[in-house]
Amino acid sequence: MPEIQDLLDESLARYPAYCTELREATGVDPEYWVCGARVYGAAGERWFPEVAQIRNPRLLQALLLALRQQGVTIHPYVPATGWAKAAGRLAGVTTPFGTVACRQAVLAAGAWSGQVAGISVQPIKGQMLLLQDQGDAPAHIVMDEHAYLVPRRGGGVVVGSTLESVGFDTSPTAAARSALIGHAARLWPGSDRWSAQHHWVGLRPGGNGIKPLIGPVSGLDGLFVNTAHFRLGITLSLASAARVRRMLAEQAKAGVP
Ligand SMILES: Cc1cc2nc3c(=O)[nH]c(=O)nc-3n(C[C@H](O)[C@H](O)[C@H](O)COP(=O)(O)OP(=O)(O)OC[C@H]3O[C@@H](n4cnc5c(N)ncnc54)[C@H](O)[C@@H]3O)c2cc1C
Repeated sequence: MPEIQDLLDESLARYPAYCTELREATGVDPEYWVCGARVYGAAGERWFPEVAQIRNPRLLQALLLALRQQGVTIHPYVPATGWAKAAGRLAGVTTPFGTVACRQAVLAAGAWSGQVAGISVQPIKGQMLLLQDQGDAPAHIVMDEHAYLVPRRGGGVVVGSTLESVGFDTSPTAAARSALIGHAARLWPGSDRWSAQHHWVGLRPGGNGIKPLIGPVSGLDGLFVNTAHFRLGITLSLASAARVRRMLAEQAKAGVP
């Protein structure tokens, strides 16, 4: 498995140009913003001017548009249920609507990856809040060991997050809401006057720290996996995807039967 630091360096180096390319191709701006981060820790307060953020829903929206422009067929809300095999190797992905024939596939179903292949990935629930500031938000990320505040360019501040091992439950809870509001008040005094606009839940693919699984799945030639990025899946995505793409190309070059 690749070292996290290698994936991190490669991804972070690619992000600025990648976001510009997506914006120019699609008109949707993923809002890559080098806003800096102030971090409070045991060693006191530290300032990291190079820290950047992106607006992940916009990144995905731009990516979907770019893929469609390039002729990629997307089947939204069609679950993969398993694998069709022929001559001992992958021949397709099965779905409730039929089989999509293919000689190579990448399983990237996040926390659900273990449901489609025998892969050890557990869902780690994370709750977040969007607070509406009153023009008094920080212009940079603020964080400590418990929580972080991320200001959005157009207003509003995201507060995160919880780490909960409760299976596939995606319900927001009142306890997490008040804990996040408390974290925000500690990190940015005055934020207790802000109103909560949105409270949501995501499931991280993890369970075993940040140990990405990127590579062939043993026992089924042609099937690859790209998952288990836990808390860093967006940050590491560009390098991870490039690695799995190289592996597919190498297998194809060696002659997929
Ligand atoms: C609160 C929170 C804060 C986070 N903050 C950060 C951060 O600051 N930086 C960072 O880098 N990462 C962060 N993460 C982690 C990041 O979101 C994940 O690591 C990343 O989304 C994992 O990407 P993925 O594509 O592997 O999985 P996902 O994003 O979970 O995508 C998997 C997709 O597969 C689909 N799927 C599931 N089952 C099937 C099936 N059977 N067939 C077809 N499709 C299927 C799902 O519907 C989903 O769309 C955060 C996560 C949470 C919850």
